[in-house]
Amino acid sequence: MITSDLWRGKRYAVLGLARSGAATVQALLASGAEVVAWDERAEARDAMDPSSSPARGEEGSALPPGGGGTAAPRQGEGALSLADPLTLDLTGFTAVVVSPGVPLNRHPIAAHAAKYGVPVIGDIELFAQARAELPPHKVVGITGTNGKSTTTALVHHILKTAGVPTTMGGNIGLPILGQEPLPAGGVYVLELSSYQIDLTFSLDCDVAVLLNITPDHLDRYDSFVAYAWAKGRLFNLQSFHHLAILGGDGPMIDAIFEECDETWEQNIRRLSVSDVDQPAWPALQGPHNAQNAAAAVEVCRDLGLTVELIETALRSYPGLPHRMERIRDLNGVLFVNDSKATNADSAAPALAAYPAIRWILGGQAKAAELDTCVPHFGHVRSAYTIGEAGGMFADLLRRHMTVEESGTLAVAVQHAARDAAAGETVLLSPACASFDQFRDFEDRGDQFRQLV
Ligand code: ADP
Repeated sequence: MITSDLWRGKRYAVLGLARSGAATVQALLASGAEVVAWDERAEARDAMDPSSSPARGEEGSALPPGGGGTAAPRQGEGALSLADPLTLDLTGFTAVVVSPGVPLNRHPIAAHAAKYGVPVIGDIELFAQARAELPPHKVVGITGTNGKSTTTALVHHILKTAGVPTTMGGNIGLPILGQEPLPAGGVYVLELSSYQIDLTFSLDCDVAVLLNITPDHLDRYDSFVAYAWAKGRLFNLQSFHHLAILGGDGPMIDAIFEECDETWEQNIRRLSVSDVDQPAWPALQGPHNAQNAAAAVEVCRDLGLTVELIETALRSYPGLPHRMERIRDLNGVLFVNDSKATNADSAAPALAAYPAIRWILGGQAKAAELDTCVPHFGHVRSAYTIGEAGGMFADLLRRHMTVEESGTLAVAVQHAARDAAAGETVLLSPACASFDQFRDFEDRGDQFRQLV
């Protein structure tokens, strides 16, 4: 676990007790902080096991203002109580730590904390604060609309293959505060969503990567520009000699480049994807993965690895589940699970990556078009639509290809497998959210794997 003397004797509210929130509570308590924790789900509150807290009241009851009645923290051992921070007088609190899932633009905690002048932060900010007490190390921060997990896992894989102590955290892997500190010379590789960056104020990444920006999460931001700058702020937090890597193109990316280069005087580099040897990396196919690999190579070179070490590791990268994951080759037909592609933008690279596709798509549509996929329709032999958007997408695709409205994933897999000839690919890349028929995209991908 990562702890800090800075937190000892201070008081924190922690809102959201899923994995990262729970790890935050433990790290704060182990550091001797006083913690008032809350989650709207009773199971999450119960899992905190605050039975040792003298302040525990009826489930869901609020503590007296200021969380009074909790045990005074002793050195190395904090005190935990349960209360909704919205019901608390936050005077004297050092921070409210929220999970990135809490929509700060709508949730009343932002205004409540502001009323008391208390900052709202996330676990990545606590990690940033704890860094001074960790053995000498480096931090790589990776953000972007698409490709964050792949690039994070890839950088981590390359470092590990090269024998560098490393771990992944942020939006991927285990919560960062729950992990053991790395030995001297280690590299923390953090996948950072824009929500996490919004809650981070002092993370000085040795290398920061902004892969690309396309409109997304517009329910959480006032505009595309606001969303783009939320990501761009990762660079703004860096010391000026640290490296910022900027991928993608378009006016937003140009604006961020100019701002960094001229105003923030950043050591900023634009990513070039031209000189990559992609055919040698089986788990990194498709144009999008050329970008992810180029970013990972640039990061690892900056960290001092040789080109030879990096090349070896790129060849052995196993890929992540649900991202163009090769499930099996059956009689020459390749089955690929790309369930993570929940919008047209992220389905497009998978369509580009294979020459002859039996395409399974549909679910809960995020948009009524598939425009970014259109340039790759020539690769699709036939389409099989499922879920809520099945009818709409079937109508849209019929002009371009043979389409079956399969309805369910089971029927789609069966019929796509029946139709596919050797050399073709049965691809689940739904371009839709999964919640109409599945628990989440992972459940959808797991069911696909079973069916295959
Ligand atoms: P994230 O963590 O940002 O959601 P992932 O690495 O999990 O990204 O990839 C999610 C999906 O986005 C993949 O299935 C792929 O289709 C698409 N994708 C991955 N990398 C990129 C990229 N660099 N540019 C565009 N799309 C990408």
